[in-house]
Amino acid sequence: MRVLVRQLNRRRVGMIEVDAEAKPARTTTTDTNAEVYLDWERAHDDSGHLRRCIVCGSEDLFRHKTFPQITPFVIVLAFALSLIGVLGFVTDVAILIGMTGVLLLDIAILFFARTRLLCYRCRSQYRDVEIADYHHHWDRSTEARSRREREPRPTEPSGRHRNRDEFR
Ligand SMILES: [Zn+2]
Repeated sequence: MRVLVRQLNRRRVGMIEVDAEAKPARTTTTDTNAEVYLDWERAHDDSGHLRRCIVCGSEDLFRHKTFPQITPFVIVLAFALSLIGVLGFVTDVAILIGMTGVLLLDIAILFFARTRLLCYRCRSQYRDVEIADYHHHWDRSTEARSRREREPRPTEPSGRHRNRDEFR
């Protein structure tokens, strides 16, 4: 699986590629060359799904569907086309062709949309993983609870994920 690792203050650390079977305790990000320590203890449930954040250890994870960057463009395009149609600038056939194009784009976007697993506490993002049914979409109450749980602790960013360069 691929993980976008973030610190507790949600600052991006980098992407890591880990083998969930091998469970490496330490790895290096592929893009920023930062050292990351992973905690695999009770990370998986009985059916092998990820249950806990291997970066910060939080058990609160939520699923999130990500759409490709093109989505806003398609929305603007659909809006423009319907406006042109309403104002009657072009023939109905042209509008029909245009709308069909937008529809196909929409379908393509849905096809490329990926569901990812995110951590409430550190917002580390898990990609290419099978998501267990008990992980739901983001909700305010879990976010608030997760925040309450982490507030009593000092908010110093855990030194575990510090970039190597910072030590020089
Ligand atoms: Zn986390």
